[in-house]
Amino acid sequence: MDKTFNISIQSDSDGFIALHCKLCSRKFKMTVPDIEDETRNGTFCPACGMNQNMSEYYPESVAEAAMTVAAEMAENEIMNIFKKTFSGSKHIKVKTPQPKSISQPKVYTEEGSYSSYGLACCQREIKIEAASSGNVVYCPFCGLS
Ligand SMILES: [Zn+2]
Ligand SMILES: [Zn+2]
Repeated sequence: MDKTFNISIQSDSDGFIALHCKLCSRKFKMTVPDIEDETRNGTFCPACGMNQNMSEYYPESVAEAAMTVAAEMAENEIMNIFKKTFSGSKHIKVKTPQPKSISQPKVYTEEGSYSSYGLACCQREIKIEAASSGNVVYCPFCGLS
């Protein structure tokens, strides 16, 4: 099966996308190019410093959107099998509905109350929850605190 998901994530007004660490349940934001940079060996959570794959940080809403698309695709798939099974039969006439169009969900990034945080070690900028400013911040790129 050659199916691709098309879920777009809309960044906030500064080009940042909200991420979520499942280990410490803290939220933070990173820029799109930094998120898509696959040359890095994992990404450190700014709050707990754990190194995880980028995909681990995608927020719940992205997973939910993916579930919606997967369900629609599955429905079409079942309909196809149904059509194929009965199309050669003279005795059974079935009228199958048109395949559903697959939605292309867009996940929006809440502006939220985040403050920018400059990382001198890697010359990058991230956003951390305003409530957690003052805490230790680990650099997502190199893990330094
Ligand atoms: Zn964490
Ligand atoms: Zn760094």
